[in-house]
Amino acid sequence: MSSLSDIAAKLGLGPDFATAGNRAVVSPITGEVIGRVADDDAASVAAKTAAAVAAFAGWREVPAPRRGELVRRLGERLREAKEALGALVTLEAGKIVQEGLGEVQEMIDICDFAVGLSRQLYGLTIASERPGHAMRETWLPLGPVAVITAFNFPVAVWSWNAALALVCGDSVVWKPSEKTPLTALAVQALFEKVAADFPEAPKGLCSLVIGDAAIGAQLARDERIPLVSATGSTRMGRAVAPIVAERFGRSLLELGGNNAMIVTPSADLELAVRAILFAAVGTAGQRCTTLRRLIVHKDVRDRLVPALKAAYGKVKIGDPREAGTLLGPLIDGRSFEAMAAALDKARTAGGTVTGGERVLADRYKDAFYVTPALVEMPAQADVVKTETFAPILYVMTYEKFEDAIALHNGVPQGLSSSIFTMNLKEAERFTAAAGSDCGIANVNIGPSGAEIGGAFGGEKETGGGRESGSDAWKAYMRRQTSTVNYSDALPLAQGVVFDIG
Ligand code: NAD
Repeated sequence: MSSLSDIAAKLGLGPDFATAGNRAVVSPITGEVIGRVADDDAASVAAKTAAAVAAFAGWREVPAPRRGELVRRLGERLREAKEALGALVTLEAGKIVQEGLGEVQEMIDICDFAVGLSRQLYGLTIASERPGHAMRETWLPLGPVAVITAFNFPVAVWSWNAALALVCGDSVVWKPSEKTPLTALAVQALFEKVAADFPEAPKGLCSLVIGDAAIGAQLARDERIPLVSATGSTRMGRAVAPIVAERFGRSLLELGGNNAMIVTPSADLELAVRAILFAAVGTAGQRCTTLRRLIVHKDVRDRLVPALKAAYGKVKIGDPREAGTLLGPLIDGRSFEAMAAALDKARTAGGTVTGGERVLADRYKDAFYVTPALVEMPAQADVVKTETFAPILYVMTYEKFEDAIALHNGVPQGLSSSIFTMNLKEAERFTAAAGSDCGIANVNIGPSGAEIGGAFGGEKETGGGRESGSDAWKAYMRRQTSTVNYSDALPLAQGVVFDIG
């Protein structure tokens, strides 16, 4: 099951799936056009947004546990479709089979989480200072949510948002990456099948708009959309956030990362090497949580770096559909150029580069496979402080723990982080107030591969948003404080007297 038509058949998408339209869809595996889709235009985006507004009006009144039932059924449908949808993620985004399947599993997991949540959208009761008064805080549905997603998690990020938004009583308009519209169309079709059998689900509850940044910007500007959840580069966030802020909308931003690991003298180096390999090389370095900076104590560097080079040498690079492949292609040629440019800058800044060459070019002239790059840097130069979305791992050394933390936090991004140590004091310091400044801080595991149960997101240029687990659902609701007077008097707060006399 590796061609688009095979996968489409498995997903029940019909023979005409992705056969016409202005936009050519390219598989990064071969660089070939595998399908065509039609972009939305401004009018169709406006119409879908209007439908989302109308859908919200009905959906917000469906009891939350019943809304959860729709998401439960979506999760069931995803279980049935896991293999085929995972294969489509592989074909369109170039992830290895295991990672394609893992991405769909993440969708299933967040559906399960959201089903439970649908009975736990708890508010508060608050003691009133006035006699005969009751005060409470309630969470109410917010409105249509725009979800803008990146190519590298083409379906999971929608589900993190949509599963929560749906149980919270919101409708959703999704703009996927223009590089990965096929997986989005497939997921939308799955959703529509589930919604068609669910009488309370209004038309337009979840819709999809295909197109580039201009379509995303249209959603960002639309005053009918109270929340714009946008995942992608910091550059995109800088464009979207002011537009949403200007109309006093909310944005939930999940932007670039520049994630580091500190390896201390007491670290279990065997575990560390395995963790580094998955975090730095997995998904061809194209995860927001990819490990990009390794901060190694000077006493372990000479053991760790050679072990890492040996492990890098064993990574099988190639078609992500083939068994044993660990490193698939970069998304496109621009991504390869960005990688090559970053390595040049690193060399200029005194770095020693191992790997980072293009491979398999004779077999795939339009696809971009690389060996993972390990770059030993004398210092944290500007290029190290920049997120390059490719498998480049910069290695730096430290002597004092404080210096490691300073290096660690000395970048503009603040998504994920990790430390390998057996020293309890170091582990606790890393996760305490003066430790890692990131949204995610792990001990003895790498920075990537988060579970859905925790809140996901980061600080600084990563945008500050939190998605997925914990109480991230609150972003998709509006908070209301109500005071109810069940007495016969009208006492005012703060003891204020305001009487005619
Ligand atoms: P990108 O910023 O190029 O595009 C992301 C999405 O934003 C796409 O749908 C794109 O069409 C849209 N977009 C771009 N400019 C826009 C604008 N001005 N207005 C409205 N929409 C706009 O990112 P990408 O190359 O697809 O993905 C890689 C980036 O995403 C990396 O920086 C990565 O770290 C980040 N990312 C972050 C997270 C996270 O949770 N923090 C998760 C995945 C990816």
